Amino acid sequence: MPRLSDIRGQDRAVARLRAAIAADRVHHAYLFTGPPGAGKRATALAVAAALNCETARGDGCEVCASCEKIALGIHPDVVTLEREGAAQIVPIEAIRREVIGRVGLPPHEAAMRVFVIDEAAALQEASANALLKTLEEPPQRTMFILATAAPDRLLPTIRSRCQRIAFAALPPDARAEVDAEAAGDDGAARAAHLRELAGLIAGFDPAEARDAAAALDAVLAAAARVVETKGDAAPALELAARRLHEAARAAVAAGDPYRARRLGERARLVLETQVAVAVHNAHPQLALEALLARIGGLA
Ligand SMILES: [Zn+2]
Repeated sequence: MPRLSDIRGQDRAVARLRAAIAADRVHHAYLFTGPPGAGKRATALAVAAALNCETARGDGCEVCASCEKIALGIHPDVVTLEREGAAQIVPIEAIRREVIGRVGLPPHEAAMRVFVIDEAAALQEASANALLKTLEEPPQRTMFILATAAPDRLLPTIRSRCQRIAFAALPPDARAEVDAEAAGDDGAARAAHLRELAGLIAGFDPAEARDAAAALDAVLAAAARVVETKGDAAPALELAARRLHEAARAAVAAGDPYRARRLGERARLVLETQVAVAVHNAHPQLALEALLARIGGLA
């Protein structure tokens, strides 16, 4: 997970956040807007680290207990909510359990508790309403960072409670820099995971699997996470592969030709990506990014 000073290509957004942290005037709710892959989620986690770092407050150090827990996703006071299941929504149960259930109590150990909601436009209507109540009466030492590529789809009442920070589409040079950093030595390990994934995907027939929808969603969510965090492909892909394997085994006949066709099309694109990486040595990150763009274009 990057430090704030490692975030590339978003100087204006980062400068605003750093100034707020330095002045101890962090807003209780931010809305990060901008295209997928702009680094909204990575920046949100960098903000959480900067606010809670034990040695380098205002930036993050990557090595103290707080920074490490945030990077591993196990910090008890830094909670990321994301899209779940085939419907790809942030369900009300998650908001109740992770947010409402916590905000009545002080943070466990953090100076500032941070809730990251990515992607906020995927909030179920009930989730959005429940969240709105919390944003109207913000708890102490707690902040919310909502990230979205589609701010117009948020409730206006939620938008108006948040301070908006725009993330630009990354310019090609910044992007190349980030990709070069992310490539590292574990490119071979990533390619191996992608090959494994390819085998799993090839092993099931989307025409006869309703659960394949959830499986593919898991793969795509993992791919999105890899792209957004600019690295660490292996754990995300491993998780996706496991879920995919389980779901594929449990798959049952759907009897829904329209859905089967849509799934088949997506599965084909995923397979092409595996081939590009495993056979033609395409850069895993760039290949995943291209995959997401193509899937996004399917509607
Ligand atoms: Zn630290």
